[in-house]
Amino acid sequence: MQEKGTISVNTENIFPIIKKFLYSDHEIFLRELVSNAVDATQKLKRLASLGEYTQDVGELKVKVSLDAEAKTITISDNGIGMTSEEIKKYINQVAFSGATEFVEKYKSKTDTKDIIGKFGLGFYSAFMVSEKVTILSKSYQEGSEAVQWTCDGSTSFEIESTSKEERGTDIILHIAEDSTEFLEKYRLQGILDKYGKFLPMPVEFEGDLVNDQAPIWVKSPNELKDEDYLAFYKVLYPMAAEPLFWIHLNVDYPFNLTGILYFPKVTSNLDLYKDKIQLYSRQVFITDEVKDIVPEFLMLLHGVIDSPDIPLNVSRSFLQADSNVKKINGYITKKVADKLQELFKNDREGYENKWQSIGLFVKYGFLSDDKFYEKAKDFTLLKNTEGKYFTLDEYREHIQAAQTDKDNKAVFIYSHEPEKQSLYIQSARKKGFDVLTMNDGMIDSHFITALESKLENTTLKRVDADVADKLVDTGITQESVLSEDENTKLKEIFEKTLDNKNLVIQIESLPTDELPVVITVPEFMRRMQEMAKTQGFGAMMGNMPQTINVSVNANHGIVQKILSSEGEAQSRLVLQVYDLALLSQNMLTGENLGKFIERSVSMV
Ligand code: ADP
Repeated sequence: MQEKGTISVNTENIFPIIKKFLYSDHEIFLRELVSNAVDATQKLKRLASLGEYTQDVGELKVKVSLDAEAKTITISDNGIGMTSEEIKKYINQVAFSGATEFVEKYKSKTDTKDIIGKFGLGFYSAFMVSEKVTILSKSYQEGSEAVQWTCDGSTSFEIESTSKEERGTDIILHIAEDSTEFLEKYRLQGILDKYGKFLPMPVEFEGDLVNDQAPIWVKSPNELKDEDYLAFYKVLYPMAAEPLFWIHLNVDYPFNLTGILYFPKVTSNLDLYKDKIQLYSRQVFITDEVKDIVPEFLMLLHGVIDSPDIPLNVSRSFLQADSNVKKINGYITKKVADKLQELFKNDREGYENKWQSIGLFVKYGFLSDDKFYEKAKDFTLLKNTEGKYFTLDEYREHIQAAQTDKDNKAVFIYSHEPEKQSLYIQSARKKGFDVLTMNDGMIDSHFITALESKLENTTLKRVDADVADKLVDTGITQESVLSEDENTKLKEIFEKTLDNKNLVIQIESLPTDELPVVITVPEFMRRMQEMAKTQGFGAMMGNMPQTINVSVNANHGIVQKILSSEGEAQSRLVLQVYDLALLSQNMLTGENLGKFIERSVSMV
């Protein structure tokens, strides 16, 4: 028997189009062909277990072999095989119609990048790297004749009977001139390791097993111990530190999804995006670009997700609109929230110890995902500068008495650099205030805004936003010992001596044990500037000098001395108390620091 024919596709020359546009993803041909081979062996296994195949099954496996001299790669399996009718049906029609569909989609799109890349082309992807493909196959069905099919990627093919001892299929790729990189052993090994590490049937390359690792996510959680999860994590991310905890995902309705998500220990910002969640479809690695499938705030988690229900052959925008993808996204959010809730409830201390890392996810979810927020508001922690943790409700309770202002608003006071701001913190504590630590530069400024918008009647102020006395505006002002004239005079002296129009001099009645001068940066101004910087119109706002409030403590003893002295002596006092204020904030540097030291020496 020999037959020639043309494949019935309605698009001419699909081959060059596909070849051109799938360039960066050429390596997936191996993933597709090995998956098909694995499927074929699995099908045979099932037929045997159903009693529909009664001959010797043998050792079911897939073999990939390379013949660099002959310029061929062969993917062999001892699965169900195909009869010539089946080849005509499945390869000539099904496989090629998939390719046709691809081209149709490609034609109607303006942004081609959108649809290529993730398109599973199946068998046809062999033509991305081959100038000719041969299929040798013998069906499992009794008395089947072996067939050979050959095609060069054009729409014509040849099919004839041949001899083949073993049941199963060999796909022989005659590698094209421009794809010889795939004739390198290490290149092939790399591709197989990437896509095939967890395949469900043994796959061999050059005598070695490719999939020597168990995909533990397909097991039931009660078959697994902590050691198994930790060992699996090491397999996925050999260089990463031990994870904090994990969530085993396992659902089959209304979509099918298995997987394990690990919460990594967040050590430095640098390696945050290095290790990513891996997406599998029936144990075949697909991608580590899980955007849209995993909620954005959980992108920094590690682990695997396996779902045959995630469409891989469509565009990104389609993916976002896909109802399964939406449900999966929601499911993951819920699972993560439930797990955190459980940890918090059952082991608060352990939870607090891990907050450094967990906090990043919780805060990010808190501010970006309303559904998550609904749950997270009960296990979001605030840490104060004494290292104590509070839930949001506990904290409000904690500060209620001392930090409620005249409008009945709770004022949360925080420090972004407790070390540097220790003097401000001390002053606030003396007033009976509590100070929170908000020193996670990556997320805390957003978290602060989110807290204000989500919590009722609450405002947040950085500890240096005002003098301690005024951080919480109770409407009560201390009596000043100065007369109105003295006030005006004092203000003029400071303005004249400091001579800097970015300084706003204020005479205030502060406690006598406060410093004579306190420097503060108003909360609102500071936030505006920070926002301008991060949002890119920094050139306009960011270059504007920051307004600094200089509060002179009218009740401090030294004020009388300043008022009663004159000339050089007066200026020296003013400069000295101002420099001391700067010094206490680590703001005195360079030339000014030198001048201060000189002046101090001469004064003692
Ligand atoms: P898909 O695998 O998505 O169905 P493919 O283009 O990869 O699409 O393959 C088309 C069909 O060809 C498969 O569904 C299968 O029936 C058949 N096939 C491909 N490879 C093999 C193989 N190694 N053994 C048996 N059948 C195969």
